[in-house]
Amino acid sequence: MAFRLVNREKLLAPHRCILCERTPQKRVVDTGYNLIRGVPVSAHMRGRKYVCDTCAEHLSKALGYLSLVQAGNLKEELIAAQNRIEELNEQVALGDKIDDLRSYLRGQVNETPEAPEAEVAVENDGPA
Ligand SMILES: [Zn+2]
Repeated sequence: MAFRLVNREKLLAPHRCILCERTPQKRVVDTGYNLIRGVPVSAHMRGRKYVCDTCAEHLSKALGYLSLVQAGNLKEELIAAQNRIEELNEQVALGDKIDDLRSYLRGQVNETPEAPEAEVAVENDGPA
């Protein structure tokens, strides 16, 4: 049976939440189930079984589910974290480029040709 949100103005009898037995003031879920006649229950609860917004929230908390507000906050935190990761990746890429440039420049310095050795004048006495 699929539960669905229903207009609280159009509830069937008993027009109450099956859990707290109050008339829903906010959103209400129709469970699709009915409290069957003949079952020894208080007459004021016979009929359609609804669950009010407040009871549904308590059930969700007991089961460890997130509220829409919590889910929205987590989504914002996730987007901020993804943006921060992109910023850090850009910084790492810049750092790598700086390291490459440093290595390149060191290589250029090391590859600078050494000063030529002074030519030693060899005295030549001529053929012996
Ligand atoms: Zn309730």
